[in-house]
Amino acid sequence: MATKLPPVDVVIVGSGWTGGIVAKELAPTGLKVVMFERGRPQDTYPDFAGPQAHDALKYTRRLHMVQDLSQETITFRNSMDQVALPIREHGFYWPGTNVGGSGAHWSGLTWRWLEWEHKMRSGTIAKYGKGIVPEDMNLQDWPVSYDELEPYYDKFEKVCGISGKAGNIKGRKVPGGNPFEAPRQNEYPTPPMTASHMMTLFDKATSNLGYHPFPIPTANCSQDYVNPDGIPLGQCHYCGHCTAYGCEANAKASPHFLMLPLARKNTNFELRANATVVKVNLAADGKRATGVTYVDARGRELEQPADLVILGAFVTGNVHLMLHSGIGRPYDPKTNTGVVGRNYAFQGGGGAFILLDKDVFTNPFMGSGALGSWIDDFNGDNYDFAKAGYIGGGGISLGNNSGDPLTYHPTMPGQPRWGRGWKKAMVDAYQHVSAIGHQGAVMSYRQNYFDLDPTYRDAFGRPLLRLTFDWQENERKLMAAHTAVCERIAAEITGRKQESAGTPRSFGRFNSARYQTTHNTGGVVFGDDPNTSALNKYCQSWDVPNVFVLGACVFPQNAGRNPTGPVGALAFWAADAITKKYLKRPGALV
Ligand SMILES: Cc1cc2nc3c(=O)[nH]c(=O)nc-3n(C[C@H](O)[C@H](O)[C@H](O)COP(=O)(O)OP(=O)(O)OC[C@H]3O[C@@H](n4cnc5c(N)ncnc54)[C@H](O)[C@@H]3O)c2cc1C
Ligand code: SF4
Repeated sequence: MATKLPPVDVVIVGSGWTGGIVAKELAPTGLKVVMFERGRPQDTYPDFAGPQAHDALKYTRRLHMVQDLSQETITFRNSMDQVALPIREHGFYWPGTNVGGSGAHWSGLTWRWLEWEHKMRSGTIAKYGKGIVPEDMNLQDWPVSYDELEPYYDKFEKVCGISGKAGNIKGRKVPGGNPFEAPRQNEYPTPPMTASHMMTLFDKATSNLGYHPFPIPTANCSQDYVNPDGIPLGQCHYCGHCTAYGCEANAKASPHFLMLPLARKNTNFELRANATVVKVNLAADGKRATGVTYVDARGRELEQPADLVILGAFVTGNVHLMLHSGIGRPYDPKTNTGVVGRNYAFQGGGGAFILLDKDVFTNPFMGSGALGSWIDDFNGDNYDFAKAGYIGGGGISLGNNSGDPLTYHPTMPGQPRWGRGWKKAMVDAYQHVSAIGHQGAVMSYRQNYFDLDPTYRDAFGRPLLRLTFDWQENERKLMAAHTAVCERIAAEITGRKQESAGTPRSFGRFNSARYQTTHNTGGVVFGDDPNTSALNKYCQSWDVPNVFVLGACVFPQNAGRNPTGPVGALAFWAADAITKKYLKRPGALV
């Protein structure tokens, strides 16, 4: 029996970007706000101070800041006729843990999504007709347009000090930026990072081929910067230990130093770490949340009553809590009805190796999580994807990210995979191999979804979340086409044919054991229709209006870019709706 605590006004589940943003915006209202974080407390000092900040074994092998799969995991299968098994190795599944969530150790590529990515269904049908959408594809529009979200993208970029070059300010094309981007009101707050030698080779080759390279917008700050909240960010020193690590310079934007200290200035805000929320509790009629139940570090079960519940527990955590708590109708793939668990999507990958001459050095140990050049010529609806035979696109890029000794072991295809031969191949390749990668959009299908596993349970006795996912024909075609573009660019750089990297051309079934990206989307999507979405345009549950759900779980399908730009913008958007509308008149906002 859980011990009942005195009631509070708001509980927030998760201390990552989404939880951090709403905490920072809600704490000054004077309401009693309690945030729960299942992981440990951590801060830049002492946790990310040198030299232990660069402990590769701790961060990239033992994944110190990633969810402990012995406590909680998900089960996975490719299709409904298979038995799903628990994920025991991280592979494609890397949910962050500890204070700051994944935001404390992400890479930092920070995008605005294209206008089309906010209206994929209507935008596609307007251009190509209804017939282009396969019968099993649950293609849906966002309920929020790019124009509505633009001020919130701008706010997130300013808070994080994003380094980049605008390509379109108020409709005026700006040389050096992305010519395909939607109009923005302002230039990025800080200039692009210094380009690496490999980036200059990529820029030259893609320009020769008629494409439009530009520097990736990064949350690795290119110079000292003070954000609008008065918080200083340091200058990135290209330390090469970025993705999966904390930043000792506070150059990598993270909620643990940009959001939570501001929330904590208010004595009405409290952060409880080592506290896992296991359920959102509902009133007897199921139409109102009464608070949450959580388990603390001592294993005690406690009930925290609250008037408003905000979930920011990453995609899988949010979907799990919604299903386990009985909020919203669970999705049924057989009838394509129900909403919670619907529209899961991942991201496609692949690319091409670049084997350079021995006098060209890549210096892979020097870089940052997001440092790189990108082209958007094959992304979204910037090109005729219908002519190419599928819906969607993706970004193509070259990054100088991390050459740390435990994770970066490049060898060319055909070289030995172990022993002395492998070591020699690795030493030969380390300074002279690079790669072009592509990140492909993945559409949503009725057969790709989440539900609760009938067999396996977590350490708290809850059924595990089950994921059913596989590549579909649309995505296989897209990945094959984009791999060919990567090969073309690699050949332009070296003057000779180069091998494809990562994913083979004949894409088989999705392999959950392989690291690809961390970009899971969907499961609790937002929309205009309660029959096809769990949330309204303010990320508020249609069924239980005092529950808001934030994060990439709200995206109806995935894009050819990383998710955190829109995740952050939507968290500010929802926080605005809560403070300006909901708190004045609690109830359904739509
Ligand atoms: C290694 C890595 C690199 C990445 N690089 C990029 C990038 O370059 N660009 C980009 O756009 N995105 C990137 N991402 C994704 C990005 O980090 C996420 O989109 C973003 O952090 C999501 O924020 P969130 O608040 O939704 O979730 P998270 O940051 O995951 O935060 C969720 C928090 O909730 C806590 N939590 C979960 N369940 C519970 C529970 N039941 N009770 C209490 N607490 C709970 C977790 O411990 C966690 O701290 C990367 C992710 C990883 C892991
Ligand atoms: S590469 Fe830059 S942003 Fe990343 S951890 Fe190192 S100093 Fe920080």
